[in-house]
Amino acid sequence: MADFKILRLGSRGPQTELLQLGLTRAGFDTRADGIFGNNTLNSLTAFQRAHDLDADGIAGALTWNALTPYLTGYTVYTVRRGDSLYKIASQLGTSIFALKTANPKVDIYNLTVGSRLIVPFTYNIVPTTISFTSTVLELVMTGLAARYPFISVGSAGRSVMGKELYYLKIGSGARQVFYNASHHGNEWITTPLLLSFAEEYAAALSSGGTVFGISAARLYNTSTLYIMPMVNPDGVDLATGELDSGRFFENAKRISENYPNIPFPSGWKANIDGIDPNLQYPAGWDNAREIKFSQGYVSPAPRDYVGTAPLEAPESRAVYDFTLQHDFALTISYHTQGEVIFWQYLDFEPENALEYAQQFSRLSGYEVADVPYESSFAGYKDWFISEFFRPGYTIEAGIGINPLPISQFDKIRADNLGIITTALLPL
Ligand SMILES: [Zn+2]
Repeated sequence: MADFKILRLGSRGPQTELLQLGLTRAGFDTRADGIFGNNTLNSLTAFQRAHDLDADGIAGALTWNALTPYLTGYTVYTVRRGDSLYKIASQLGTSIFALKTANPKVDIYNLTVGSRLIVPFTYNIVPTTISFTSTVLELVMTGLAARYPFISVGSAGRSVMGKELYYLKIGSGARQVFYNASHHGNEWITTPLLLSFAEEYAAALSSGGTVFGISAARLYNTSTLYIMPMVNPDGVDLATGELDSGRFFENAKRISENYPNIPFPSGWKANIDGIDPNLQYPAGWDNAREIKFSQGYVSPAPRDYVGTAPLEAPESRAVYDFTLQHDFALTISYHTQGEVIFWQYLDFEPENALEYAQQFSRLSGYEVADVPYESSFAGYKDWFISEFFRPGYTIEAGIGINPLPISQFDKIRADNLGIITTALLPL
């Protein structure tokens, strides 16, 4: 399960935000400010008392264990004699509908004593108000797969530090579409963007509803969507402050000391070895190398170092292999920031590529733009376009200085919902 830290009065950082979220969801309200103060302490001890834990005010393994259902958004219930679905739903604060969705193989009108039911809670699983780390990702992937059994979750490989490179799949249509996010560590806000879409889509599917005014069933039958929500989990964990000790952290810190103008760790885009994972694809990699070397990125760096060869970073290699194993009609790579849509690679012009870009622009208000020469090579989009002659996009969401604050999330989501939904359908 997730890699939880021991937190106490004075603790700070993403896991403190996660603790505060869990406590709030469990009904013990705290400010999600990432600072473990007296308010959090009071909520935590109240939670511990309510769950028959030692009320020591320290979040250790047992406390995290008790909080995990609130973070994954479901619990597991063993059916007892005399139980009915209605009774379970009302006792555990869920709906019969959610129970049916999460337990499609269970005969819910004829419950077997001793059988185990997934019991989803009523709130959304994907957090959109806290730092989104690899720990949060693992909880969310577990929760989405449990609540919505028609979502499959898998791993496309592992990061330098051995973290799973998760993907999820929704749909049964012939048209395969691929969205990825967080190639760059300090652009992690793109991860909840794609995952909150997946959750909204899944909820609409199970209720027969719509997303962005389009029937979810139609989307499902038309396309098969693959999402890789966090290509670079090590970089995300470093940039958010989740990773703050150990040899990988120390090495990254040493690398960053050669780049005093890039804030550490918040300016970190690269993988944990200091290779930029979006300058690793075999599409003009030599050109990228020449450009980035001339800018001074000649060795591992917080950003813009191309590595010693294409696909050296295991994260990029995993995305590359995953792409070759599928038949994607269209891909979108989410980055921040700038509110622009990049759609070209050199003079390759796949059919419909500009039309899609213009549609995305109309739906989002983002600008269709030409790629600046110094950024025109070795990105995922560049490789996808040149390898398959199909539309591939880099979308720079939001405006500001990376990492964009999570307070921008709702606007980014609203701006991009139309793109993310309509790209599932042919023009
Ligand atoms: Zn980026």
